[in-house]
Amino acid sequence: MQQNRSILVVGGGYAGLAFISQLRQYDQTTPVTLIDKNPYHTMLVESHQVAAGSRSPASILLPFDHIRNLRFLRAEVLGGDFRAKHLETTAGRVSYDRLVLAVGSVDHDFGVPGVREHCQTLRGLDDAVAIRDRLAALPADAPLVIAGGGLTGVELAAHIALHRASCRSLTLVEAAPSLLPGLPDHLARAARRRLGQLGVNVITGTPVARVEPGLAHLQDGTALPYGLMVWACGVKAHPLVAALGLPTDRAGRALVGPDFRTPVPDVYVIGDSAAGHTPSAQLALQQGRALAARLSGRAHAPLRNKGVLVDVGQGRAVGLVGRLMLRGLLPGWLKRVTEIAWIARVLGWRAAIGHLRGAGTVDGVRLPV
Ligand SMILES: Cc1cc2nc3c(=O)[nH]c(=O)nc-3n(C[C@H](O)[C@H](O)[C@H](O)COP(=O)(O)OP(=O)(O)OC[C@H]3O[C@@H](n4cnc5c(N)ncnc54)[C@H](O)[C@@H]3O)c2cc1C
Repeated sequence: MQQNRSILVVGGGYAGLAFISQLRQYDQTTPVTLIDKNPYHTMLVESHQVAAGSRSPASILLPFDHIRNLRFLRAEVLGGDFRAKHLETTAGRVSYDRLVLAVGSVDHDFGVPGVREHCQTLRGLDDAVAIRDRLAALPADAPLVIAGGGLTGVELAAHIALHRASCRSLTLVEAAPSLLPGLPDHLARAARRRLGQLGVNVITGTPVARVEPGLAHLQDGTALPYGLMVWACGVKAHPLVAALGLPTDRAGRALVGPDFRTPVPDVYVIGDSAAGHTPSAQLALQQGRALAARLSGRAHAPLRNKGVLVDVGQGRAVGLVGRLMLRGLLPGWLKRVTEIAWIARVLGWRAAIGHLRGAGTVDGVRLPV
């Protein structure tokens, strides 16, 4: 029977875990196994706080072995053979009946010379911890440059400005004419005002042309010295999608139908790795739930952009919820509620309430630091 054929999920990020938890609500019988290279889910949307040192690494991790009734295999997927229906992983060959790929995305250097060699990225716990440690080791007068005035860059700049008072010079560079490209001007201006109040020097409309050790060259000829430069200019598809031989769009994302099916039988792709949607956690969650509904023979609501909340520190945010533009403590509170609801969804309300009470850590996690 279609529904009882086992499912192998690769990637326990927002899309993968949303898929598994939703499927469990519909169907307790189909065997589901999760493979991830890490033993924990990383709440990526909170990783800027770890990077700035305002939050402990463990507080943004949800260990897979704390999730009830989850079959988990820790392994990195390296390749596979769709005809033989198996994957090659660091833990050996793994067979599947149905495969759900949810491996997210990787940072994009857009071909700017020197980025790969000299810049630090923020994609995952290791990067966040590396930024935190490098900031702590920098001399007090070392300037900091963040390239990319999207969500990640703005959140990181705000938190570093607040929590690393010793960073005397912090510059945020954005190639587009305003911060938070894609969001209404009103919000971009609010974010810029906030960063200005926090002492962040914001440069817009000027792309980074090249990076050399200690010096970032902008296209208008400005040279910005840096002790640490963080690259947060956008993402591209995870290379595994193309390595597996799936048909992709020009950005390397897997081509999928409205039901997340790829042209390869029994292979589905969701989250940042799938073409057709802006990479975001909220869409990854919706895709995970929608695929669970599809595979259980149920209808699901069409995907829609529910908005975005940009954390600008001290419990404040600027954001768009539906058509409502918000800024200040209310969207900051909404962002926190979203996080708690996600933890409750994955680990249950007890863990989520512990989190709310400020426990802020999840026990039993061996951190890669
Ligand atoms: C600092 C920051 C702030 C952000 N803030 C927001 C926000 O406020 N709102 C928003 O909507 N989005 C935000 N995003 C974007 C959001 O985090 C991503 O769009 C979202 O995580 C995508 O979910 P996903 O499930 O596709 O991938 P991910 O959450 O990245 O999960 C991918 C999983 O796959 C695993 N994996 C990868 N490769 C392999 C492999 N080869 N083998 C096995 N496992 C593998 C990884 O370990 C990971 O667990 C932010 C991102 C960052 C970095």
